[in-house]
Amino acid sequence: MMGARRTINCDVLVIGAGPGGLAAAKGARESGARHVIVLERDTCAGGILNQCIHDGFGLIRYKEQLTGPEYAVRAEREATEAGAKIMTGHQVVRMERMAAGEGIEVTAVSASGLKTFRSGAVVLALGCRERTRGAISIPGSRPAGVFTAGVIQNFVNIRNVMPGHRVVILGSGDVGMIMARRLTLEGAKVQVVAEILPEPAGLARNVSQCLYDYGIPILCSHTVSRIIGRRKIEAVEISEVDQDMRPVPGTEQRFDCDALVLSVGLIPENEIAQTAGVTLDPKTNGTLTDAYLQTDVAGIFSCGNSRRIMDLADFVSEQGELAGHNAVAYLTGGEMETWDESRTTSMLKGYPVPDTVTCTLCPNGCQVRRVKKENGTFTYEGNKCPRGIGFAEQERTAPRRMLTTTVRDADGHLIPVRTGQPISREKMFDAIEELRTQTVDRQKRIRAGDTVAYVTDADGTRVPVIAGSPAAPDEI
Ligand SMILES: Cc1cc2nc3c(=O)[nH]c(=O)nc-3n(C[C@H](O)[C@H](O)[C@H](O)COP(=O)(O)OP(=O)(O)OC[C@H]3O[C@@H](n4cnc5c(N)ncnc54)[C@H](O)[C@@H]3O)c2cc1C
Ligand code: SF4
Repeated sequence: MMGARRTINCDVLVIGAGPGGLAAAKGARESGARHVIVLERDTCAGGILNQCIHDGFGLIRYKEQLTGPEYAVRAEREATEAGAKIMTGHQVVRMERMAAGEGIEVTAVSASGLKTFRSGAVVLALGCRERTRGAISIPGSRPAGVFTAGVIQNFVNIRNVMPGHRVVILGSGDVGMIMARRLTLEGAKVQVVAEILPEPAGLARNVSQCLYDYGIPILCSHTVSRIIGRRKIEAVEISEVDQDMRPVPGTEQRFDCDALVLSVGLIPENEIAQTAGVTLDPKTNGTLTDAYLQTDVAGIFSCGNSRRIMDLADFVSEQGELAGHNAVAYLTGGEMETWDESRTTSMLKGYPVPDTVTCTLCPNGCQVRRVKKENGTFTYEGNKCPRGIGFAEQERTAPRRMLTTTVRDADGHLIPVRTGQPISREKMFDAIEELRTQTVDRQKRIRAGDTVAYVTDADGTRVPVIAGSPAAPDEI
């Protein structure tokens, strides 16, 4: 006879251990919750950050330029040090609001079977999924070689698999542009990025540092109008679009390719929210919340990409922390705090302004212009802080970039790494080649922050290469 399933009780249960969930757990503990549990379906915490090996995270929250894995390590440490318990390998399948005073029941599947949790409050932090080809209906055959950008990111950064060597990218959101650069650094030729909108959809800093830096062309007001190939993709047809975003006949251009990468939008992940009757925004699929991040089911809060797609992990963490705090306030009758929606929309998007330098030192992406003064000397305009002047001056004389990539250990597993300091932009490809010849000895226990290799800069300096996390997780 099967034994009765044991119920695990807690004060605040967080679903999802991405930056939103980890910060919610920290916030709940710091606001006085005794038992805080985070349920995560993957084998490790960190969420999407584990495969985002590029830098650009943490500038607001930690005042440091971190890679995704580095940010994830920090966020996880903060949650556990605050006293939250993170249970990986637990996929939540159902959630139900019980009678008044009896809390919320959550069911999760794990390798050891079904488990039931009972919590006073729940914070949803389930992230998002990508829009697929089916969702945007591109005409043509259905050959192999069409992927979403997140899948490609996982292939290249975690599984060491290149999807193709001549690539077309549809969609110029940040994910698409970041993958255009990553694939280029890994030796692929990105033929073009096509964007249906009149301007790039992502941040100006990514147009500058991911496309312009590598000479990757972008065609705005264009879309893929046909996919060509029987079994494997051979080419795509790209057409200009009219005001109604329909392809204009006669404007077709053929681009040969062996991979088409779709970066055409993210959809909040909310199947679990629906099992508890939480109302979703019919347009975005995000959870609808009040200003306290509480959904219309009492005691269920929501944060991060499952509420609304957000550009910056830093703001996701900030919001998660607030959701965790408010979940505790809900339980104790304390005062809730409101979320300031404008926190997420301050960064410049679209094309950089011509004849300016896009400062990429922080997400603001200031457009810095060098101006000649009447006395013949030069000054800079457009920078919100003094660091922009140094950056613009360096861009004019000797541009430098942080290299973020992976190195292999002896078993072929990938470890996400970055250079200890920016290196000469012209040395990026040489440095990647240098790293291909080096393997990391896994016998030495690697920790985040360890130097695992060296690359040579333009002036011959040996630059340390630093591990972002102990190792890439096996399954994400
Ligand atoms: C390619 C890419 C590049 C980016 N670049 C940057 C950048 O340079 N700088 C920056 O600041 N931000 C960047 N972002 C944005 C930022 O990373 C995200 O906004 C942030 O990670 C979202 O955090 P989250 O906690 O909401 O979701 P996620 O990180 O997606 O975490 C959600 C977690 O929930 C788990 N989960 C889902 N369903 C279940 C379930 N049923 N049961 C249990 N667990 C579940 C998932 O496994 C996952 O771990 C980027 C995002 C992407 C996709
Ligand atoms: S000038 Fe200052 S505020 Fe503007 S992008 Fe650069 S670092 Fe950020």
